[in-house]
Amino acid sequence: MEEIRQDFPILHEPTPGGGRLVYLDNAATSQKPRSVIDALQDYYETTNANVHRGVHVLAEKATQAYEDARIKVAEFIGAPDPRSVIFTRGTTEAINLVAWSWARPRLRPGDRIVVTRMEHHSNFVPWQAMARAAGAELVIADIRDDGTLDPDAFQRALDGPVKLVALAHVSNVLGTVNPVADLVARAREAGAVTVVDGAQGTPHVPVDVEAIGCDFYALSGHKMLGPTGSGALYGRLERLEAMEPFLYGGEMISKVHDDHSTWAEIPHKFEAGTPHIAGAIGLGEAVDYLRRLGPDRVHRWESDLATYTAARLREVPGVRVFGDLPERGGAVSFVTEGIHPHDLAQYLDQLGIAIRAGHLCAQPLLRRLGVTAVSRASVAFYNTAEEIGLLVDGLHRARSFFLRG
Ligand code: PLP
Repeated sequence: MEEIRQDFPILHEPTPGGGRLVYLDNAATSQKPRSVIDALQDYYETTNANVHRGVHVLAEKATQAYEDARIKVAEFIGAPDPRSVIFTRGTTEAINLVAWSWARPRLRPGDRIVVTRMEHHSNFVPWQAMARAAGAELVIADIRDDGTLDPDAFQRALDGPVKLVALAHVSNVLGTVNPVADLVARAREAGAVTVVDGAQGTPHVPVDVEAIGCDFYALSGHKMLGPTGSGALYGRLERLEAMEPFLYGGEMISKVHDDHSTWAEIPHKFEAGTPHIAGAIGLGEAVDYLRRLGPDRVHRWESDLATYTAARLREVPGVRVFGDLPERGGAVSFVTEGIHPHDLAQYLDQLGIAIRAGHLCAQPLLRRLGVTAVSRASVAFYNTAEEIGLLVDGLHRARSFFLRG
């Protein structure tokens, strides 16, 4: 563990209070290992040029590095062909790509889109907007009180003219790991195209898009050790080939005539303009780091630590932890009687403990939980049980501070 933590320079930065940083906001964004930071610097110092268009040495080197990163991401998620990986700014852009390029032209009045109650706004609002624009129906499959998806509600939602099913691999609020392969199989049986939001999937659980069987899988580089502004969309080749472009401009065309244009082959058809080249290369490096550690080991460590976190938090009087789960992604959300989540987060911050507070971009879920805001501690593989101890101590101190008298 000490060796792993040494790879992350920011974990050794003193906090404003002079103490050590306890970073428990990994679901928002992960910290970056030295190898990723170095790859970014090295790219700008030795390789920087625009990709695909140049004939000079640097352009070829940059293109090679960019395309190598695509191969790494494809291998990491079990995509059989690197052309099925489109670089995006993250999950939000990846889902919007599917919404605008696949769904918008295909949705008809009366069609149904199914999402789950635990979706992040990124995998909810685009579908709500597409449904409204097309006169289609958005159906939300509910969760059970233990924080898992209700399989019967999901099945009922599929009983109708369902065109598309969009669901999270791992919940950013509850930490629920959805049985995506099973859910996708059921959705496909009902005739739906499937979109999996993998923003909390790729950082925390081994991902194999072929085994999942989905049509699309979206991921965020910055949540899995990569740079901000990096991410990807996996899509089945035949789906991507049949889709119109998302953004128009340079890099994505084959021929531009005065009155019409033709498109480049995939994946370039979906990568208009100069991409985030350094970001993609940094993401490739992040993937290398995760593969060295082993996604299975990462998942076991994080799931055990998150389960331990939930158990320790439950011991604190007045704390209610959401989700009673056998395994978890990194997230554990809770409320503390008498202390607003924002006040708690601010108090803990003074102790050097970084957690998240608010609606966590999941207002439909929070309404179901009966709250408007929660506190969330979310772990990564570089977090320790000792840090969870500091969080729990901090919570006890917060209770005596806020609830005294
Ligand atoms: N989906 C889930 C489950 C998330 O947790 C997040 C980010 O918190 C997103 C989507 C959006 O990711 P991004 O902001 O990287 O596009």
